[in-house]
Amino acid sequence: MPKDFLAETLPEYDVVVIGSGLAGMTSANILGRAGHRVLLLEQHYKLGGLATWFKRPGSHTFDISLHGFPYGMLKSCRRYWNEEIASNIVQLKNIRFDNPMFSLTTTFNREDFTRLLTDRFKLEPAAVTGFFDTARGMNFYDDQSMTTRELFEKFFPGREDVVRLLMEPITYANGSTLEDPAITYGIVFSNFMAKGVYIYEGGTDDLVSKMQKELTKNGVDYRIRCDVSKILVGPSGVQGVVVNGRQIKCRAVVSNSNLRSTIFQMVGEEHFDPQFIKDAAAVRLNNSSTQVYMALKPGCTVEESTGDLLFCSTADLFRTNLLLDRNITSRTFSFYYPRTRPTGKERYAIVSSTNANWSDWANLNEREYEASKKDLVETTLDALEKYVPNCRDMIEHAEAATPRTFHHYTKHQLGASFGTKFEGLAVSRGLPQQIKGLYHAGSVGIIMSGWLGAINYGVIVSNEVDQMLSQAAPTIAS
Ligand SMILES: Cc1cc2nc3c(=O)[nH]c(=O)nc-3n(C[C@H](O)[C@H](O)[C@H](O)COP(=O)(O)OP(=O)(O)OC[C@H]3O[C@@H](n4cnc5c(N)ncnc54)[C@H](O)[C@@H]3O)c2cc1C
Repeated sequence: MPKDFLAETLPEYDVVVIGSGLAGMTSANILGRAGHRVLLLEQHYKLGGLATWFKRPGSHTFDISLHGFPYGMLKSCRRYWNEEIASNIVQLKNIRFDNPMFSLTTTFNREDFTRLLTDRFKLEPAAVTGFFDTARGMNFYDDQSMTTRELFEKFFPGREDVVRLLMEPITYANGSTLEDPAITYGIVFSNFMAKGVYIYEGGTDDLVSKMQKELTKNGVDYRIRCDVSKILVGPSGVQGVVVNGRQIKCRAVVSNSNLRSTIFQMVGEEHFDPQFIKDAAAVRLNNSSTQVYMALKPGCTVEESTGDLLFCSTADLFRTNLLLDRNITSRTFSFYYPRTRPTGKERYAIVSSTNANWSDWANLNEREYEASKKDLVETTLDALEKYVPNCRDMIEHAEAATPRTFHHYTKHQLGASFGTKFEGLAVSRGLPQQIKGLYHAGSVGIIMSGWLGAINYGVIVSNEVDQMLSQAAPTIAS
């Protein structure tokens, strides 16, 4: 008999959360902690969504999206998860840039960037201060007509090198471009500049296992291998979900699944106003990624001076389309020293990440796909050689992930790494006005993406669900 992943679920919950990305898990945790009956359904065989990892023989563990997040994660984890999780968040101090315009190392915070921009890039201190203050003062309710390109042009006209320093890491962090609203840049950049770049010491596997424990403690019923095919909607709002062919009733749904899939596949456009559907259909997905995971043989090491994060590029100028190009010129290398997993065996791993277009990978046949992945690994090793001499001799295992991989494991349309472009945020926020009890929390609008954005969006939405559930008369008998 196949295993029943829904064994002993209740016939009815207060809220069903679809998807266990960081936003979904955080929503579930807060709602469970508030005393609601929460069912968290994940289609994959483990929790975490893009916050995930995989293991390979030789005690190698690879993290997919543990490369860096702002300090705000520490506060959010302390408040909405627990102190044990928060205390594992540590700063990365060696952030390197290497491209034809400049090579430098920075702690990636306002103080050090101010020093670099004035001393090395010879900018007027007043322009630098004005730029930082403007970026920090941005919020969602501002005029959104200014683009990031215009923001740079206002403070640093004609300075392509400065644009590259300021923009390249943020494009990598959330897929935003010079044409996106400046707010999508300003908020994320300022978050990083507050105190620098942080990661979770212990690895994503440790983080997610600690989150699972906390979910259990707070009474959240979480299930893996549970694929939600339908959100059931009646005249008074959300009624339940269909998962693995079974109906489960609920008063609210938080979908952490892709925004477009939530609306068009799980709910169905007939349940929304025509104008809302028009807006939803116009939401653009963000780009995808490729990655190459490399593990060093036991006993082989990398000098710590190589850096924690290295933004390297061979392109003469910074151009967003070059960052996405199939012919890769820009890569971000993440170096994982044994201190990343202090309790495991002494292992070094390197992950190379590059933004990518779904269309470059989607239609390759199996032979072309395998050959392209092999080429990706080989060209990445060529690029790494400059920073880790003789890396080919030291590497025990190397493999690649593509937009198809991200799509496969998360069901994100077009393998989107960072949800949707800016217009997705208003559509995501508009769901409960369309259908009572229907919410979305997850990477969306560029701002609400990345580990911190996803967790914080999960917090915002869970507070709204809590309010809605508390206002509505309870329908579940204890
Ligand atoms: C290569 C790469 C590198 C990254 N690096 C960083 C980084 O260094 N720092 C950073 O802050 N962020 C990084 N990110 C982004 C970050 O990982 C994501 O923004 C964040 O983890 C997304 O969380 P989420 O809550 O939106 O959900 P997701 O992680 O997208 O998870 C959604 C979940 O929903 C599940 N699901 C979907 N449909 C269904 C269904 N029908 N039924 C049941 N379950 C379903 C999926 O399986 C998945 O588990 C990176 C992303 C990628 C791809």
